[in-house]
Formats: sequence, C-alpha cells, structure tokens
Amino acid sequence: MTGPLRSTNTVYHAPLVARSDRQQLNQHPAVTLWFTGLSGAGKSTLAHAVAERLHRAACRTYVLDGDNVRHGLCGDLGFSPEDRHENLRRIGEVAKLMVDAGLVVLAAFISPMRADRDGVRSLLGKDFIEIYCGCPLEVCESRDVKGMYARARAGEIAQFTGISAPYEPPATPELLLDTAGTTVDECVNTVLDFLCQHFNFNIPPDAERDHEAGTAATAI
Ligand code: ADP
Repeated sequence: MTGPLRSTNTVYHAPLVARSDRQQLNQHPAVTLWFTGLSGAGKSTLAHAVAERLHRAACRTYVLDGDNVRHGLCGDLGFSPEDRHENLRRIGEVAKLMVDAGLVVLAAFISPMRADRDGVRSLLGKDFIEIYCGCPLEVCESRDVKGMYARARAGEIAQFTGISAPYEPPATPELLLDTAGTTVDECVNTVLDFLCQHFNFNIPPDAERDHEAGTAATAI
C-alpha cells in the first residue's frame, strides 16, 4: 500500500468454499514460485517451462510475467523505486488471490530490491518460494534477449537494472539456480524436485506420458 487504507466501512464476507476445498479438488497444493534476477537471466523462460511441466501433470497454473502485467494491471506505473514497489505490491496481492484460488502461481519479475521481495514474502508467508535466477551481468548482456541492454548502454532507457539501477541478490532464497552454467531442462527439474520434496507434489519425470495416460499426478 502506498498510502493509508481508504476502503473503510467494509466487512469481509467469509467464503463457503475454502482454499483447502479447492486444493482437494485440484489434488495439489497452491503456492507461488517467485523468479527474480537480472533481465535475461531466464526468469520468463523458466516460469513458462515449469508451468508447462506442471500443467502436463494436471496441476492448475498461472504465469504472472513482468512485461505482461505492465500492459494492464500496472500499466500506469513506471520504473522509479516507488513505482517498482507499487508494481510488486500489486503483483503480490494478485498472487495471494491466485493462491487462495488454488493455483500454482509462477511470477517472473526482476524485482531488484530485497525489501520489495520481502514485502511479498510477508504477504504470502509459507506460500512464497523465492527462486534466484543467478546469471552474471555479462552473460545476460550478451544474450540481450530483447535488445534492452544495448539500448540501456546507449542511454535510451533510464533506470535499467544492472546498468543504471541496482539489483540486490537474495541473501537466502529457497532456490538458487545457476542459469548461466546449466541448461533450461536442468533448472526446470531442480524446481520440480524442490516442489516434490518440500510441498508434497508428485510430478513424474515423464509427466507428458503420465498425463496422456490419465494419471492424476499430484497429491496434497
Ligand atoms: P528474463 O525473463 O529473465 O528477462 P528470458 O527468460 O526472457 O530472461 O531469457 C533468458 C534467455 O536465456 C533465453 O533465451 C533462454 O533460452 C536462455 N537460457 C540459457 N540457459 C538458461 C537457463 N538455464 N535458464 C533459463 N534461461 C536460459
């Protein structure tokens, strides 16, 4: 929240269908996987690839992607520290609703400031899994997936993370992925292994085949 709560005189309406009911129906837990890292570190690639594997294993997923939400929900925000904070606050609230809806949320955001990520962590509590896509700036810049680094170096983009704006790496993320030294598949498997070990998911190695065979692949 950027200012004081203005929606006073409101009363919370208790739902008849609870999150636990939705998880029971879905046959898997709900959680948010929060991918953070420099532009080009692999956040979107991994969020979508993990979502695809989970989907094939009959899990309900949704990817919240940085650029996409800035076209709608956060289209009124820029890249100043205040706007970045408000951007992530809104995303955190959306992720919280989606987790309550029973989904596995995959959030891919540079989210450069530790305090902003910790704000989302306190909002989501144990449903927040911070995944640091660790990749040296030189590697991200050489990839320059969207041509942004070249434009930032040319001075065409202000406040660009890693060039003219800071990035604070997580001190103790739940997962640290070396996205420069390992393949996309290896990283995806690391994330899925984590979900199986710590959140009681049951994702078979060959999810596609099991899903095609009609297997409900996950358990609460
Ligand atoms: P970001 O969302 O962090 O800005 P992208 O996912 O758009 O980054 O781009 C990352 C690029 O790096 C992609 O071209 C991807 O194929 C490549 N890449 C190479 N190795 C990996 C890896 N281990 N994990 C994620 N991406 C990788």
